[in-house]
Amino acid sequence: MTERLYLYIDGTWQEPAGRDLIDVINPATEKTIGRIPAASVDDADRAVTAARSAAESWGSSSPDERAACLQSIHHGLSARAEEIARTITDEVGMPIKLSRRIQAGLPLAVLESYTRLLREYPFEEQIGNSRVVREPVGVAACITPWNYPLHQVIAKVAPALAAGCTVVLKPSEVAPLSAFILADVVHAAGLPAGVFNLVSGYGDPVGEALASHPEVDLVSFTGSTRAGRRISELAAATVKRVALELGGKSAAIVLDDADLSAAVKGTVGACFINSGQTCTAHTRLLVPEHQYEQAAALAVEFTATYQPGPPSDEQSRLGPLVSDVQQKRVLDYIRRGIDEGAELLAGGGIPDHLAGGYYVQPTVFGRVTPEMTIAQEEIFGPVLSIMAYRDENDAIRIANGTRYGLAGAVWSGDPRRAERVARRLRAGQIDINGGAFNLLAPFGGYKQSGHGRELGRFGLEEYLEIKSLQFKREI
Ligand code: NAD
Repeated sequence: MTERLYLYIDGTWQEPAGRDLIDVINPATEKTIGRIPAASVDDADRAVTAARSAAESWGSSSPDERAACLQSIHHGLSARAEEIARTITDEVGMPIKLSRRIQAGLPLAVLESYTRLLREYPFEEQIGNSRVVREPVGVAACITPWNYPLHQVIAKVAPALAAGCTVVLKPSEVAPLSAFILADVVHAAGLPAGVFNLVSGYGDPVGEALASHPEVDLVSFTGSTRAGRRISELAAATVKRVALELGGKSAAIVLDDADLSAAVKGTVGACFINSGQTCTAHTRLLVPEHQYEQAAALAVEFTATYQPGPPSDEQSRLGPLVSDVQQKRVLDYIRRGIDEGAELLAGGGIPDHLAGGYYVQPTVFGRVTPEMTIAQEEIFGPVLSIMAYRDENDAIRIANGTRYGLAGAVWSGDPRRAERVARRLRAGQIDINGGAFNLLAPFGGYKQSGHGRELGRFGLEEYLEIKSLQFKREI
């Protein structure tokens, strides 16, 4: 049992104002594995005050000093990488093998990318008689979800610190333990007091207090569209900057000249990773009508290789869902898919070979049509919808036909044709023929998947203000 009973504010571990605690549950065993404070509005206010006090001096530090701090954090997290992987496997349910590579490995790679960027990023440039300088926005509130808990934290905290912003982090109450490890590491790295603050607790009140606080200059949020909308409303009162990374309903378009087997295999993998609890999951497989039967058979075949199993087992590929609430939500969506006339080709229920845990069988629906609920809403579970299209234009229309626009994929034997189709998709990142995730490329959504971009140079610029200094003549 991990008990973290203090909040990290102004460079010290402080007692929260209240006594309420939140249990952290292991979704594979349904047992309580940790406890964290449910902080209050007062705690959030104390953290913002500390961040505000530290903002001027941190904001005027040199990029080299900040790079050295990021490097120390990298060093501290690297030393605890196995503990981080196990902690996140225990609180989220991702199989340990994947957790090591993604949940622990990816944040390290992102941190390193910002250390490197700080050494080359041009914070100033000359435009005619103006010197254009990029300055930190000020105090950044970072509010993050549970599915890739440390990655989502680092994707905000690393660029914020690199830019010279001070930070108040509110991690997900469902998977908060890796954020406490980060606070330990930040403390040991010797960052000045107030530069990084951690306040755990529920979205309401802690997240809402940060979004509405007049001394917060920017809110960067990753999570549901519902919470993102609320944060935007609250932030509007003080006209603060808002960056939102929200949900998705990404389509993989398989063109008629694609390697069908590779395309279906790749899409099944991209749908089921982290039990479908990935905002960029490719949850809609769009295939030409004449290849539908073959694609459906392949999807069922590949799905059979994703048997749910305990996430602590080195052989597991598919763990449980994060909570009982999420399990119920996914089972409700499966029920709606059946009720609305989709064909259940695989899965559809709770696996019977496991005793307990919030598991759902990997599920494939065929003959899904665009107006069905399962084709429109983000399920956030291991559920793939196969849809048939008439021609290329029809495929693009279906792919673009949801309120989301986060990600997608195009598969074709002709990369130029694939690129042509990819350019017509209204989404932030499109993988072509299984193109790999690039942590230097901008990440973010169109439409109701949010606005703003994370990672790499674009991610850094979210945390920068731009000032023009006009001189009397060109200098
Ligand atoms: P959530 O919106 O319930 O919670 C996310 C965070 O926001 C948590 O820290 C929560 O405490 C906080 N929060 C909730 N209500 C709030 C409010 N009213 N004011 C301020 N803060 C509030 O989402 P979740 O269940 O943790 O995560 C799942 C969702 O996140 C999915 O919809 C998924 O698509 C999305 N997501 C998006 C991305 C992306 O980069 N686009 C990445 C991961 C997850």
